[in-house]
Amino acid sequence: MKKNTKKPAAFETRAIHVGGEPDPTTGAIMPPIFQTSTYVQSSPGEHKGYEYSRTHNPTRSRLEECLASLEGADQCLVTSSGLAATSLIMHALPHGSRVLCGDDVYGGTYRAFTKVFQDMHKFEFADTTDLKSLAAKIQKFKPALVWIETPTNPMLKISDIAAIVKLAKKVKAKVVVDNTFMSPYFQKPLSLGADIVMHSMTKYINGHSDVVGGALMLDNGPFCDKLRFLQNAVGPCLAPFDSWLILRGIKTLAVRMEATGKNAMKVAEYLEKHKKVVSVVYPGLKSHPQHGLAKKQASGFSGMITFFVKGGLKESRKFLESVELFALAESLGGVESLVEHPAIMTHASVPANIRKELGIHDNLIRLSVGIEHIDDLIADLDQAFAKI
Ligand SMILES: *Cc1c(COP(=O)(O)O)cnc(C)c1O
Repeated sequence: MKKNTKKPAAFETRAIHVGGEPDPTTGAIMPPIFQTSTYVQSSPGEHKGYEYSRTHNPTRSRLEECLASLEGADQCLVTSSGLAATSLIMHALPHGSRVLCGDDVYGGTYRAFTKVFQDMHKFEFADTTDLKSLAAKIQKFKPALVWIETPTNPMLKISDIAAIVKLAKKVKAKVVVDNTFMSPYFQKPLSLGADIVMHSMTKYINGHSDVVGGALMLDNGPFCDKLRFLQNAVGPCLAPFDSWLILRGIKTLAVRMEATGKNAMKVAEYLEKHKKVVSVVYPGLKSHPQHGLAKKQASGFSGMITFFVKGGLKESRKFLESVELFALAESLGGVESLVEHPAIMTHASVPANIRKELGIHDNLIRLSVGIEHIDDLIADLDQAFAKI
């Protein structure tokens, strides 16, 4: 995109045009997919800046440029999955580092920290929504890194990013925010002082449930250089075709997030009134204990809703088997609506006693509200409730 020196282009515009420039050699309006592993050299060591696609690929570079712009970062590194992005950060920390992690993070993050990296670093888990106890824990544990996910999954607890950054700075800890649930359209952790943003691009950023990918956004500096080195040295690079698909998906990120947020608000209000629902957790509802904080640090509430159905496993199962439009599947953030049962599905890797402590009970159901027509979504929920 040509640089307008007066005023930076808006999010919606950058999502389409940064990294989306027409191909300079042919004029093709859509960037080509450089489906290549290697690049021809004219003489040994003489090349056009590209040697091997684990290191560099022009399609991947376009995606990185676009995403860095959307999160407001100097750099973006894309990886073959969200967990690969998380793993790169773990590899980049000096061995034996202390990592303080939120206690309600994505199940795969929890599994990576407790079953893969537990001998490399020292991990502790804390409720990052409770600033008082977190302050004490940070002072005592002196972490090098604080890892937060906000809203959390699936309890949709909100952590105060700016306040946590302040606490972390006191012990010179870096703060990573897993921004997957919000996308840069609704929440920009770097602008609140966080050091690194992590995404599973599999979810809202790509938005079409057809790619697995991850991203890290951060500013220039030694840690960024180390991550860039590791992206090549460890090798979790994103394929050219997947990069291209995500680049295409991002073009509609703003409109998708608006639509998903609007639908989710209506679904949440519908659920809150339903006789067969015990309670609903959605940051956009006034009943959410951190509704004020959600409004303060983000510009929307996204499409994730958690609710407790009246009854137990039997009733949940009946509901999940009865929905027709909502697809029963793990993952989230696509244009199509999904429903899932965290205790059996996404959070099965979290030990039962910890699930209980976190409130992930057998009657808990998680929705990822898509962008279908709201009337069809509500009608589907209605007929499923009628069957239990
Ligand atoms: C899915 C997800 C991840 C992991 O990303 P993958 O792309 O599946 O590896 C991490 N954090 C959150 C919040 C997620 O939803």
